[in-house]
Amino acid sequence: MTKFTDLNLNPKVLKAIEEAGYETPTPIQEGAIPPALEGRDVLGIAQTGTGKTASFTLPMITMLARGRARARMPRSLVLCPTRELAAQVAENFDTYAKHVKLTKALLIGGVSFKEQDALIDRGVDVLIATPGRLLDHFERGKLLLTGVQVMVVDEADRMLDMGFIPDIERIFSLTPFTRQTLFFSATMAPEIERITDTFLSAPARIEVARQATASETIEQGVVKFKASRRDREGSEKRKVLRKLIDAEGDNCTNAIIFCNRKTDVDICAKSLKKYGYDAAAIHGDLDQSQRTKTLDGFRDGSLRLLVASDVAARGLDVPNVSHVFNFDVPGHPEDYVHRIGRTGRAGREGKAITICIPRDEKALDAIEKLIQKEIPRLDNPVKREAKPEPETEAETKAPKPEKKRSRGKKPGEVKSRGRDRRDDGGKAVVGMGDHLPSFIALSFEERRAG
Ligand code: AMP
Repeated sequence: MTKFTDLNLNPKVLKAIEEAGYETPTPIQEGAIPPALEGRDVLGIAQTGTGKTASFTLPMITMLARGRARARMPRSLVLCPTRELAAQVAENFDTYAKHVKLTKALLIGGVSFKEQDALIDRGVDVLIATPGRLLDHFERGKLLLTGVQVMVVDEADRMLDMGFIPDIERIFSLTPFTRQTLFFSATMAPEIERITDTFLSAPARIEVARQATASETIEQGVVKFKASRRDREGSEKRKVLRKLIDAEGDNCTNAIIFCNRKTDVDICAKSLKKYGYDAAAIHGDLDQSQRTKTLDGFRDGSLRLLVASDVAARGLDVPNVSHVFNFDVPGHPEDYVHRIGRTGRAGREGKAITICIPRDEKALDAIEKLIQKEIPRLDNPVKREAKPEPETEAETKAPKPEKKRSRGKKPGEVKSRGRDRRDDGGKAVVGMGDHLPSFIALSFEERRAG
């Protein structure tokens, strides 16, 4: 088995690795570090959780340990799709370069230009940036990219999703032709292939197993759910979510709840808070200090539930996430793999539960096709709860079928009276027919509460 000491890394880097507690290199590290140290271009097809960050930071630190940076001319450049990912890469540099004298700067939105300019002026060995912010600095004439010896593109497939590919191409063209490129992507879409064909020179290609096949420690489940009425879908779905969280009890130490839309991230977090859950939202429209505060809280265990969009949570490295809940089925099947990969990290156990409404069935099929297995179906906890214990004679009697349907009511709907705004979940009651008055569909407790 390959050891870190076989990889020709700087002894000071090896010391930091040992202190981090890593025993053996992961497959992407074993595959990418040797060619990177030889100065070759690398094409790594790997996703987060595989140890890919160290597979480029460790050789970079080794290579950059020799030499010095000049003012405004960074010696290396790491491009990341999101601020969170960039901040995480910066943390990795801090960890692995703690015994090596290297300077770095993080160029991300939400941080003042002045501070960042001052750092660049002094000269940096490593510049970690999101593409837009990097180009902003460049346009302002504060930065020269002609001294870049190593350029890393991290999570290129996400860059593609976010429309950053033209920026990446521009940045490539601003760096010297002789630079070394380390390029990482979880998947190889045709557009990514085109970029790597254009800008990489005879790269060493290292592909590691998709997380979908690797994450055997994640228990998965899907709850099919149909709202009683379209206009109640959101509130009923949130109730299903709460019941799913409750059903996990103390096993759910912390969880990431994914929504497809930013507005739902906000609504979901607010609703959970209203019901007394310890939850906070994270998505791209929140300001940087808020995002950092929320993430720090989630990392240190003071926040239990993080409600997130895909982009905000992409690449987040929190090792101990017990649960992932998909409030929505993701539209891209790869995102499902990324999402559930936030739990069950480093061989730990994890659980991922997805709520699927009828119009998401197609997306669910696509996921099962990608992961090549059927996700076990779970009972809808709200439906289960909705079977009332017989209490009074009136409640044990099934109501007579209605002669006339109320206007606009479709078959299979639970009858509701007036402007009922309760957040009262999927109430189709098994074995009682479709025509159940809504008060019977309430649990005993809810009826008492009115
Ligand atoms: P990444 O894929 O870069 O997001 O890394 C995933 C996680 O694996 C991070 O928490 C790293 O600290 C950790 N890690 C990276 N390399 C190793 C290694 N060789 N052994 C154990 N853990 C590692």
